[in-house]
Amino acid sequence: MSECLFCGIVDGKIKANIVYRDDAVVAFKDINPRAPVHILIIPCKHITGVLAIEPDDGALVGHIFQVAAQLARDQGIAESGFRVVVNSGADAGQTVFHLHYHLLGGRQMAWPPG
Ligand code: 5GP
Ligand code: ZN
Repeated sequence: MSECLFCGIVDGKIKANIVYRDDAVVAFKDINPRAPVHILIIPCKHITGVLAIEPDDGALVGHIFQVAAQLARDQGIAESGFRVVVNSGADAGQTVFHLHYHLLGGRQMAWPPG
């Protein structure tokens, strides 16, 4: 997927402020942060979004949540609270079609989301 922005970040062809990486996932700071902590966690594997997650991806998705929890601890927002958000499709405002989990925290969040 050479035209995919986030595959470019995984491959190191596009610069990003990477805060964590392992064989399966990369986490980096969002370029347009919506909260004091705003990190994107993505699988290295190109998956277009929630609708494209397959049964074999179960362990990968579980791992992403474990990484989100560890990053929340590292960023000091585990106790104060945080959100892990995935946008899917037009109504949710998905703009990048490589599965990504927004880790947001460091301020009071509104509910329901806008
Ligand atoms: P979505 O709207 O698809 O849920 O989220 C896409 C996110 O990717 C947005 O929060 C946007 O700010 C972020 N983003 C878009 N392009 C780049 C980029 O080149 N680098 C980084 N670090 N984040 C990006
Ligand atoms: Zn991709």
